[in-house]
Amino acid sequence: MCLICDRINMIKKGVNPYFVRELATGYVVIGDNQHFYGYTLFLYKHHGDKTELFHLDSAERAKFMEEMQAWPSRFSVPSAPKR
Ligand SMILES: [Zn+2]
Repeated sequence: MCLICDRINMIKKGVNPYFVRELATGYVVIGDNQHFYGYTLFLYKHHGDKTELFHLDSAERAKFMEEMQAWPSRFSVPSAPKR
């Protein structure tokens, strides 16, 4: 099992402290390593057998890409920059 599948299983068990939100095709998570504050990932739900975008059929890939690019504008919280 890869690290991403491990983290997805943690989400399903309710024990992933970095889980943010579930969307139709994936999970939004805060990156374990916050070298860049707020670093966030969008993990494809079926990572086990589909690890590349070209593994997805065109409709699934379009939905995944749409959710990946759209969710920050829907759910982000405005904040003042750190100085
Ligand atoms: Zn995996």
